[in-house]
Amino acid sequence: MKGSLILAVVLGSVASGFSLDREAFTFTNYDLDVQVEPEQRRLAVRGTVTLRNDSSGPQKNAVLQISSGLAWHSIQVEGKPVQFVRQPYVSDVDHTGELSEAIVTLPKGVPPGGSAEMTVGYEGVIALDATRLTRIGLPKAAAINTDWDQIDTSFTAVRGVGYVTWYPVAMEVGNLSEGNSLFEVLDRWKTKEKNARMRVRLEYSSLPDDANPPVILCIGKIIRGAARGESSSSHSTDCSYDPVGLSVPGFVAAEYEFLDRPNLEVAHRAEEKTKAERFGEAADATAPFVKEWFGVARQKAQIVELFEEGASPFESGAMLLTPLSDADPNVLEIALVHELVHAAFPSSRPWIFEGVALFAQAAYREQKETRAAGLDLLALHRSAILEAERAVAMRPKDAPAADDSLIATAIDEFYRSKAAYVWWMMRDMLGEETVKKALAVYQPDQDKDPAYLQHLLEAQSKRDLQWFFDDWVYHDRGLPDFRVESAYPRLASQGNYLVTVTIENLGNAGAEVPVTVRFDGGELTQRVEVHGKAKGVVRVTAPKLPTEIIVNDGSVPESDLANNILKVQSGARLAAPGRGEGIREPVKCGRKSPPSAYSRQCFLRTLSLRVRFSDGVSGGAIWPTSSFSARPARSPVPSISSTPLSTETPRKASRFWLIVDCFRARKNGGNATGRNCRSLLERLMRSFSPMPTLTIVVGSRAW
Ligand SMILES: [Zn+2]
Repeated sequence: MKGSLILAVVLGSVASGFSLDREAFTFTNYDLDVQVEPEQRRLAVRGTVTLRNDSSGPQKNAVLQISSGLAWHSIQVEGKPVQFVRQPYVSDVDHTGELSEAIVTLPKGVPPGGSAEMTVGYEGVIALDATRLTRIGLPKAAAINTDWDQIDTSFTAVRGVGYVTWYPVAMEVGNLSEGNSLFEVLDRWKTKEKNARMRVRLEYSSLPDDANPPVILCIGKIIRGAARGESSSSHSTDCSYDPVGLSVPGFVAAEYEFLDRPNLEVAHRAEEKTKAERFGEAADATAPFVKEWFGVARQKAQIVELFEEGASPFESGAMLLTPLSDADPNVLEIALVHELVHAAFPSSRPWIFEGVALFAQAAYREQKETRAAGLDLLALHRSAILEAERAVAMRPKDAPAADDSLIATAIDEFYRSKAAYVWWMMRDMLGEETVKKALAVYQPDQDKDPAYLQHLLEAQSKRDLQWFFDDWVYHDRGLPDFRVESAYPRLASQGNYLVTVTIENLGNAGAEVPVTVRFDGGELTQRVEVHGKAKGVVRVTAPKLPTEIIVNDGSVPESDLANNILKVQSGARLAAPGRGEGIREPVKCGRKSPPSAYSRQCFLRTLSLRVRFSDGVSGGAIWPTSSFSARPARSPVPSISSTPLSTETPRKASRFWLIVDCFRARKNGGNATGRNCRSLLERLMRSFSPMPTLTIVVGSRAW
């Protein structure tokens, strides 16, 4: 009895050790003194961090993680050293693929909502290291182009969370070889830490005999804030992030020169002055466009040169870290539009800040080239949005709940790419002038209420945008999926055709989407609002019978673009059952020839089938005469005249036309409309048995 009690106690304590909640605390404040010694590649930090218990229970332990290149020296609470266990923690959150973890035993438990302040000390080396990428098979050269962070005498660049864990964090493991695990963990961290404050005092000791000491820049901050041209052997700068938002705190130090233009500053190496000037020219070229949309710049956009030619650019705020390439001026202009927009249009809401910048790139391209070219630029982001939506949908039910609405998300693909589409859609819906006016009155410091922007746009447009913001901004309802359900052309006055097009949205998010009716020699486009899981009808007057109906020109991000075209004339091909290809959606009426008396039938959901027999087909076709009627096809197709088809149908005919009038079938007691019509067709086809060489083509003839 006594033995089993002891066992239970032991097991209990082990279990609590295993259930360590790494994400119980939110880091609300950082105050760090950072010493960088480039010749040793060393970083030493002393400072305080404040942790708030955001879990539902009291916490006795707190976890602090830093890069595996760094080592813990001391951790104090209320001025007294506390016990902590050091352990390596394998996680791809850091470029080295591992963290140095300290599990701190707090002197007293921290209740939910309570905070603990810790004084920490740690130091170590930050060298070029891309272990997390090479161990999943990326070639070294490519890996260090992505993970280019390092401290070195000629070039120092250290980005924060997600790259180099140079300030303490606490996260569950993120693993690059396990799907989205790393991105999920980082998104969760960034969401939690959005309101954290960070103050960093950077001390950079350069070589004593260095005549031209390096310049220190805070990543994401204005270059002017950095100490420049000081000649002391050690100099310092303050980087503060208040709040951190979705930025990645970090620093860069190198012997930079500066190019100063009206809208842009470029930190570059002396030998790259010509390239830097090209950036300046591109900024000059795009500035009028940005000003027209977003007003006068509040600061200059910042470009900071990365020395390695292949290094991946990295953006933070209005700062872009990038190699200075010999890019085509058009490419440079598109890139600079983004940074200039950031400099002109601040917002603490990532979906607004990043969304407008990416939108503006597409709009700039549209203005210089065509609408299609602008949409092509957005389309580069579409598959990434789809991937992200899929990952969100596949999240296990027991995963920590995340709010992936645009207004709350930390997922890059949402607050950048999806948001850009949202801006494009709003521009299309409300008109360019309306959106510009709303942007002109937008005040970032007044954007406290989530509906602030909605109200600005409503005031300018006099339209109710609640549904749109509900579907795209306040909730993640996924993407729409449009299909052209039907298109009925009807002869109207003066030889025109009134085409009634029904668009169905199979997705949960609604949108106003363009519908294009194409005919021989031209096309007409109208817009229709189709809410989630609903239908919308648009009527277009065309001078000729339409040949094609297309929903969505690419301006609405959609989950499935394969079902957006309805070919009115040529007809979708149907393979006979048993040949491996199912019956596709019946195609509706429409033909170039003038409609005869039968066009009315066509309007009444008549579907025509062209059934082609090869020689030697035997077997019968039997279906209820009350449900179907067959009519002879007009020349040049050889026709049969028997109505309906039966076992007696002459098999010698190589082809004949058949009309299945689903409307009539319904009237006669069948329920054969819409999808039912399709299943009737399937039954009909099965009745040709055996029919190994039968090919059935759904036509779309207006008889
Ligand atoms: Zn940006």
